[in-house]
Amino acid sequence: MTCDEVRGHITWYPGPTLAPRDRLAVVLHTLDCAGCRSDLVAALALAEAARAAAALPDPPPALRAAVLLAAAPQAVRSRRLRAALRRLLPPAAAWALDPAAALRPALGRPGSA
Ligand SMILES: [Zn+2]
Repeated sequence: MTCDEVRGHITWYPGPTLAPRDRLAVVLHTLDCAGCRSDLVAALALAEAARAAAALPDPPPALRAAVLLAAAPQAVRSRRLRAALRRLLPPAAAWALDPAAALRPALGRPGSA
């Protein structure tokens, strides 16, 4: 099997779809080919990282809403989006939508101190 053929299989190696015959050919090839062995190790590490990431718990709703808001382009940060995100947030985390408004009561009105 050539390096090009092996590299075509390496993407599928970590999953269950690669035929046992092709899986064996990849292993045998990588015994003698450092380049393909390096690609195989990288593919296995990536697959393991993806599995680990999938096992992480979902973020709390407030964090999720704050990240979505921060990631949204300015043009999308409309009243409609903010209203939708406000419904996702617990009241104590509503500051994420408008931090300046949340700080106004604590800071007082300008000139009132
Ligand atoms: Zn090779």
